[in-house]
Amino acid sequence: MKKTLEFEWPILPGSISTARSRCGKARCACKLRSPRLHGIYYRWTGFIEGKRTTKTVSKEVARECLRSIRNYRRLQRDIEKLLRKALANAPWTSRFTSP
Ligand SMILES: [Zn+2]
Repeated sequence: MKKTLEFEWPILPGSISTARSRCGKARCACKLRSPRLHGIYYRWTGFIEGKRTTKTVSKEVARECLRSIRNYRRLQRDIEKLLRKALANAPWTSRFTSP
């Protein structure tokens, strides 16, 4: 029995976050009492070869990342659904159907 899992490509693990920050200059709008911070900066955070990694990306790349992350999460949900089904039909259950 062959099953095909369909999903949207590209996929990407990890997440996107945004941040604003202050710079190193002493006299800058980001140092005012009601500061105008720099940014927004977009960051991708995830694991690459087991190492937690953060990459600063452009707004456009961040948008691409978000699309891919959504695809990956949808795929993960589908896999989790399949696993629940698989466990409900595991070899030790009465519902088990041998191939
Ligand atoms: Zn500044």
